This record gives sequence, structure tokens and C-alpha cells, in this order.
Amino acid sequence: MRTGISVEEALELVLAEAKGELPVEEVPLKEAFGRVLAEDLVSLVNHPDQDDTAVDGYACWQEDTLGASRENPVRLRVIGESPAGRPFAGKVGKGEAVAVYTGAPIPEGADAVIQVEDTQREGDYVLLLAPASPKDIRPRGDDLKRGEVYLRRGDLLTPGRLGLAAAMGYARLKVFRRPRVGILSTGDEVVEPGEPLPFGGVYNSNAYSLLGLVEEAGGEAVLLGKVEDQPEKVLETLEAAGHLDLLLTSGGVSMGDYDVVRKVLEESGEVVFWRVRQQPGKPLLLARLRGVPVLGLPGNPVSSMVSFFLYGRPFLFRLQRRTDPPYRSLTAKALTPFKGASDRKAFRRGVLSFEGELLVRTTGNQSSGVLRSMALGNALVVLPPGRDVGEGEMVEVIPLTFVL
Ligand code: AMP
Ligand code: MG
Repeated sequence: MRTGISVEEALELVLAEAKGELPVEEVPLKEAFGRVLAEDLVSLVNHPDQDDTAVDGYACWQEDTLGASRENPVRLRVIGESPAGRPFAGKVGKGEAVAVYTGAPIPEGADAVIQVEDTQREGDYVLLLAPASPKDIRPRGDDLKRGEVYLRRGDLLTPGRLGLAAAMGYARLKVFRRPRVGILSTGDEVVEPGEPLPFGGVYNSNAYSLLGLVEEAGGEAVLLGKVEDQPEKVLETLEAAGHLDLLLTSGGVSMGDYDVVRKVLEESGEVVFWRVRQQPGKPLLLARLRGVPVLGLPGNPVSSMVSFFLYGRPFLFRLQRRTDPPYRSLTAKALTPFKGASDRKAFRRGVLSFEGELLVRTTGNQSSGVLRSMALGNALVVLPPGRDVGEGEMVEVIPLTFVL
């Protein structure tokens, strides 16, 4: 077992546990949002599938319309119309025009379009107040070319990508099964919300903040409830949980005599590391239990969330073969001082904003028991060991809210 390792070493060891391949399942488009593609997608169609018009107007011969202006309009005979989805069957000849509507194929013979705003209709004729041009013709395959790959295995299905998959002709998609993540809370003092709070009790907030983090990272959270600080209970609950791709425990990994999770994992599993040079979350533990990777998260609400964010989230990304990074660093100007930790990397909670430049201020009380800092904050402020940051200094920040 390793102990007292750096954040970078810990991340590497956690990622090394994401060896397994998640099974692939096929889902209809309407269930695919937020899932991760398990196959490359080639377009089944061209889009547009014919040269079509990007505007409402008239299709005609460009040559007929050269020099057309408000003062010297060109007059063309309208021989038909082509609404989107109902192509004009005939051919456009010299001196003729066909009324076309956005998305309609350009009729045969025509090589230019004029937008309706630059025309005046006169019965069977149309006056062009400007020359027609090919610029508003979208060539066949302008957007999508049949046979070309536009989405790849490992792509998160965002709204735009889901729409793109539909545009490419797919009704169902192969995606990775969502990783099943067990969440087990420990601690005799921990009580489910809704129950009366006994003297010395604390409501189980970790299960719910972790549920949110797991689901946001594409996982399926499996709430395993709470076990008392007794080793047999922990094992029993795990046995009843069914298949898991990752187990999160909260509490019971620090130095106390009642820190049961660590004991169970030492006796019945294999501990990979325990304790990371970070604040919060120093007692973090990584183990394997019956083939399942276990992240033993510290009980303090901020420690458990920050530790999941730094390690559990990248683990789930890797398991789902996601190609986008689980988080990224930016540089912001500190609006308030941030205090580091002398011997460890510190992750403070901040509010990141943009006013011509990125700015970050503290959420206030930075104690790892103050969950409000995670509720108020939208970024972690990263401080190397021994580094304090003063007002006006530049500092590394990791946004907690996600943009690709
Ligand atoms: P531990 O890691 O077990 O030493 O717990 C550290 C602190 O976190 C203690 O104040 C616990 O009461 C608190 N805590 C442990 N588990 C939870 C939980 N599930 N929800 C909220 N607070 C917790
Ligand atoms: Mg405890």
C-alpha cells in the first residue's frame, strides 16, 4: 500500500483501475442524450441531399439578371413553385423563374437564386430588383457528405451531437452502458434526511451530493444507504449491491478507531493507496474489493465532493472512453486572498466570474465541513504546497461547471 502520495500520483493510480470495458447497448435517439458513443458514425446521407436554396425567393438563370436594379428591374415569367419537400418537376429556361422556399431543391436549369426581399411579384411575373446569384445555393453535401465520419466513439452526446446523429440518418445509437456506481455512507452519527436528528447526529448529505456528481459524470448512482461502523455490515451491504463498476464509500477512512471502511478494505480487499497530500481530502483511500475499485472518500462533505471530482469523475470518463477532459485549468485574478496548506496541495472553493477577465473570489469559510462552499462555489482554486495567494494575484482555477 502506498501512502502520503501526491495528487498526480493518486490520479494515475485511480485511472489505472479503469481497465474494464463497459458493455455496449443500443438505445433510441430519445434516450441517448448525455450518453457516450461506442461507435464512429458515418453519415448515411448527404445534407443537403440536392443543391438547395438557403432563402425564400426565385430560382432562375444568373445570366438573365446581370445588371438588375431597383431602377432597371429584370422581369421573369414565373413558371411554377418548389416548396421544401415538393421539388419542381420541370426545367427553368431563359427568361423564366420558379418560386423556391428555403430547403427546396434548385430546379433543373437554374443556377442562381434571388431572395424574395429583392423582388416584386406581378401576377405571373416577378420583377428582380437586384441580380440573382449562386451564393444562396447550398451545394449538395455542403453540410454532411455521405460516408464521412462526423461523430466518434468516446464523444459525449450533447444536444448538438444528438441532432447531428439524427441528421446523419440514425434512429438508434450504440452507447456505453452507464457505469453503475455504488454509494455507501458510513458513520453511526449519520441519519437519513426526513428522520429526526438525534443528539450528535448529522444528516446524510454525502449520498446526495455524490449522487449528483456521479450522474453528472454519466454514471448511474446506486444508493446503498448507510451502514453503522461495523465491518460485517459493510460487507453484507456490498454483497447485496449487485454488479458495480465503482464503489464510493464516505466516512471511516481517517485515523479514528471507528474508521471501519479502511479496516474492512485492508482485511477483505486490497488497499492501493491511503492518504494523499491534498487539502481537503487527505484520508482518501483507493482499494479493490472483489474486483471492484473502491474510492474511500473522507466523511467531511467538502472532502468527499472534491475527492470525487478530482479522481472519481476522471475515472468515470476513462471507463466510458470519453475523449473530452474531465476538467481543465484556467488562470484567474484573485479578488480575495486564498490561503494554501504548508505541506499539501490545496483546493479552495471560489466563485469564478468574467468581467473583461476571469476573476475569482472566495466562497467564505473554507472548512471541509462547510458544504455551503460547494453549493455557492463554481470553481476550485488550486494552490501548490506552501503557496498563499494575495488579492490581485493570478491563480489556477478549475471550473466545477462544465463546458466542452
Ligand atoms: P469521518 O470521515 O468518518 O471521520 O467523518 C468526518 C466528518 O464527516 C464527521 O463530522 C462526520 O460526521 C461527517 N460525515 C460523515 N459521513 C457523512 C455523511 N454521509 N454526510 C454528511 N456528513 C458526514
Ligand atoms: Mg466516522
